[in-house]
Amino acid sequence: MKPASFRYHRPGTVDEAVGLLAELGEDAKIIAGGQSLVPMLSMRLAYFDHLIDISRLPELQGIERREKEVWLGAGTTEAKVGADHQVRQAVPLLTRATPFVGHFQIRNRGTLGGSIAHADAAGEYPAVALTLDAVMEVASPRGRREIAAADFFVGLWETTMAPDEALTGVRFPTWRGRSGFSVHEFSRRHGDFALAGALVAVRLDDDDRVARAAIGLLGLGATPRRAAAAEAAVIGRPVGELEPGDVGLAAMSGLDDVPSDLQGPASYRTRVGAAMAARAWTEAVTEARAREHDA
Ligand SMILES: Cc1cc2nc3c(=O)[nH]c(=O)nc-3n(C[C@H](O)[C@H](O)[C@H](O)COP(=O)(O)OP(=O)(O)OC[C@H]3O[C@@H](n4cnc5c(N)ncnc54)[C@H](O)[C@@H]3O)c2cc1C
Repeated sequence: MKPASFRYHRPGTVDEAVGLLAELGEDAKIIAGGQSLVPMLSMRLAYFDHLIDISRLPELQGIERREKEVWLGAGTTEAKVGADHQVRQAVPLLTRATPFVGHFQIRNRGTLGGSIAHADAAGEYPAVALTLDAVMEVASPRGRREIAAADFFVGLWETTMAPDEALTGVRFPTWRGRSGFSVHEFSRRHGDFALAGALVAVRLDDDDRVARAAIGLLGLGATPRRAAAAEAAVIGRPVGELEPGDVGLAAMSGLDDVPSDLQGPASYRTRVGAAMAARAWTEAVTEARAREHDA
């Protein structure tokens, strides 16, 4: 199928883009890589009179390593994110999540900002952003502001950005010291959105106690989520005393809106989620333990 007709706009700056969004109102939508929007338009699940193409705006491109974080322009393609050596060193979770995002052809066009703005509950980048407490930078005709990841994802494909706001960049904090990172997810075919998945970032102190832990979940609710109870349960504990299976089960506690659909009932997704969290925990802890000194 083909999309209904629309007017195509290619602004030269972010200010022009958000000016158009404000002027054209609900009939207008930003298009970046088009890897989520175009299928929706083609299947006539969505319809807009105006598409505002931000994919070539120089302001939205680039990756910058800073003292305690890495900044990525919203327009950076998923393929560039996955291949960047600064990202690999400073935000390994982002690098490791990237191969799970669709297929290479999709990642070649799809953008980090498009994925996060689209806010699919099973999307990998939204889950990485939430797990690492990333900060979203957004622009509108009223100026610029920042939104913490914890305040950004509010519902299925829904964020706290206003209709005339554009995501311009995302800042991912870096973790130092004896840290380990892992992503595990299960989907029926490679490249499909996951049924359920888990992301773990863990830092150990020199006595092998858990100094810091972040456990993110995807595909297990209307938004990506954090397993806050499981995080609280592991902090301060000697890591050798923690059974990965128990951490996985703890990560599933309090999930009250796990979807049931053609892929499987909520109970199945929850079991898969627990197994993925246990595997991610094991892998992240193994990596952290292999690092010798708090650097
Ligand atoms: C077959 C297939 C499989 C896929 N599998 C996965 C998967 O496993 N995991 C996964 O995470 N994704 C998957 N995707 C989606 C892919 O990651 C998309 O690239 C991504 O979700 C959207 O990025 P985009 O740049 O293409 O955005 P677009 O499709 O251009 O836009 C998506 C939405 O975000 C908005 N938007 C885009 N950029 C901005 C911005 N800077 N500011 C504000 N709003 C913006 C648009 O208005 C639109 O509503 C898949 C896609 C396909 C077609």
